[in-house]
Amino acid sequence: MRYHRPRGTQDIPPDEAPRWRFVEKTFRDLCRRFDYGELRTPVFEETELFVRSVGEDTDIVSKEMYTFEDKGGRSLTLRAEGTAPTVRALIEENLQGQDRERLVKMYYVAPIFRQDRPQAGRYRQHHQAGIEAIGSSEPAVDAEIIDLALTFFEELGIEGTRLLINSVGCRDCAPQFVDTLKASVADAVDSMCRDCQRRYDTNPLRLLDCKQEVCREVTENAPMMLDLLCGECECHFDGLREHLEALAIAYEIDARIVRGLDYYTKTAFEFRHEALGAQDSIGGGGRYDELIKQCGGPDLPAVGLGAGIERILMVREALGLRDEDEPRDGSFVVAIGDDAWFPAYRLLHDLRREGVKAEIDYRRRSIRAQMRYADSQGYLNAVLLGGDEIAKGIATVRDMISGEQEEVPLEGLAEYLKERREG
Ligand SMILES: [Zn+2]
Ligand SMILES: [Zn+2]
Repeated sequence: MRYHRPRGTQDIPPDEAPRWRFVEKTFRDLCRRFDYGELRTPVFEETELFVRSVGEDTDIVSKEMYTFEDKGGRSLTLRAEGTAPTVRALIEENLQGQDRERLVKMYYVAPIFRQDRPQAGRYRQHHQAGIEAIGSSEPAVDAEIIDLALTFFEELGIEGTRLLINSVGCRDCAPQFVDTLKASVADAVDSMCRDCQRRYDTNPLRLLDCKQEVCREVTENAPMMLDLLCGECECHFDGLREHLEALAIAYEIDARIVRGLDYYTKTAFEFRHEALGAQDSIGGGGRYDELIKQCGGPDLPAVGLGAGIERILMVREALGLRDEDEPRDGSFVVAIGDDAWFPAYRLLHDLRREGVKAEIDYRRRSIRAQMRYADSQGYLNAVLLGGDEIAKGIATVRDMISGEQEEVPLEGLAEYLKERREG
């Protein structure tokens, strides 16, 4: 019997993990600078949370969720997106506190589970770096999170990211737009793809972001939300543009950016990179001013974004961006002769406790074999311990690059090795 990882998932072995850590570390460091705090939520939630917030007629809820019943008969769903759990936690843990005007800024790095058709850049477990800013309707906050994302991409060495922005209106102006949109395509609905024929009734905004050629033609002259915004939404969108311009952030206005989830209001945006080909989105987000109230919480406006870590890694790969080679690091403890085994084994333990990366050869091979291994594994030096060294209370430290050897008292060895590493 052989077991396989489930379709659409991947293993990340130790030699690939540094690429992930680099992306995650860059994101965490940036969130710290922008003053976002980390939120960790469970990997599963009550199914109803996603159904009610993301929307019953969205692709996510209607066909992509991993939903199961636990032994108590409760319906649970693996995290299908990041915003709903954040909102649930905000309300449940009262993270807003008493000050309704306070801006609550949170980030997460978490797996997302969706039973998507596996294809390049799409995984059934993918990983998202996300941020949510809750408690302000100011467009300055929308611009801040866009700025954070663009800085993130830049610090990863990714150039050429395009920013597309749109407004999907609010509860006052969006319904009228949806009616106008439906009326404009009504005669041609039958010629659209099957998904769009369904969306026409269930989620009409998504008619605009269908990639099918026939559907594109039908919606080519469809009305644009930006022409039908109410005064408040128009003012907010102008404010977003002004703040982006103040930061010298280039953007394109694209009326087809609708994001597909029911909870979006006003700002919707997406980041694209051509290195990804047809599936060129590396992240996006928008405002969700109604969601918190709708989930039973206070009436708080909010805005957020998510970026896919797999997509980011693909772009870095395509652009030939490599992490710097990891510098040589650590000490390989070499026991010379059987009598030195226990003293060397103890020395290994002491060095690790004192903060030195250290390893030993548990197979106890020949000294030559051990030295070759230490070199091939990228250790900075070898710490040789034999009868002579033990008698003198020293170790012989051999630099793996220069081959130079030095006798170092065991007392103070850890400090010596740490200095070598830093120097
Ligand atoms: Zn409006
Ligand atoms: Zn379509």
